[in-house]
Amino acid sequence: MRISRIYHPEDLILEKTITLNEEKSHYLIHVLRHRIGDEVILFHQRGVEFFGKITSVEGKKKPVVQLSLYAEKIKNTESKLAVTLVQALAKNDKMDFIVQKAVELGVHEIFPVLTEFSDVKFNAERMVNKQQHWQNIAISAAEQSERTHVPTVHGPLKIIECLPKLNSEPIFCLHPHSPATSLIKQLNTENAIKKATLLVGPEGGFSPKEISLFEQAHCHFVTLGPRILRTETAAIVMQCILQHHFGDIH
Ligand code: SAH
Repeated sequence: MRISRIYHPEDLILEKTITLNEEKSHYLIHVLRHRIGDEVILFHQRGVEFFGKITSVEGKKKPVVQLSLYAEKIKNTESKLAVTLVQALAKNDKMDFIVQKAVELGVHEIFPVLTEFSDVKFNAERMVNKQQHWQNIAISAAEQSERTHVPTVHGPLKIIECLPKLNSEPIFCLHPHSPATSLIKQLNTENAIKKATLLVGPEGGFSPKEISLFEQAHCHFVTLGPRILRTETAAIVMQCILQHHFGDIH
């Protein structure tokens, strides 16, 4: 059986007893059916994971799990290319899918953004809950994909507020109708990169106003070929291409 991996963003010290919170305890005992003596991996820090054994389970309905950590191991599953994904808000569970796949593909952080042609209503209170929901999806995806870094999913912003916060250049704007050169042509003329930001538009595309903002921000406009892809497909394809060229997808 594969050892369960749990993100535990608190101090992890060998020989120390760790107490898991209600949600993680419930998950280990009621969902994964673990018992005292079972092995579990805990992580929260880039490049390292800790092996522990369940030493106590108190309570049946709402169990509290304690573990003792017995080994610390290096785990190299983080890409050398840090991708920041700026993703136009997509409807319903599409955004969940995008967050999950981006984390599997090694994304560094995600900014969900509201754009002029987004078909999602921006309700500040609802968005706080949504952010927590997407962050939880990122945690589960990191646990499953054997990562040691959990990408931050930022609170949704308007694209114009997000642009000044971006500090990972080059910025690639995915835009099917621009007089863009292909990504590969641009990459062939550039040196290896360690960081990149991707701007992915909504189903309605970016507005002319947004395109001129991106031009002022010196974005590189790229197409992904002649067919129009769904926003979630475009986000995945671009990350695969970048990770293949500069990261760790072979
Ligand atoms: N109807 C829109 C297309 C939206 S597709 C239009 O005509 O512009 C949703 C988003 O996915 C786009 O904003 C873009 O960021 C990305 N995308 C989809 N297909 C693409 C392609 N062939 N090249 C580059 N980006 C693409």
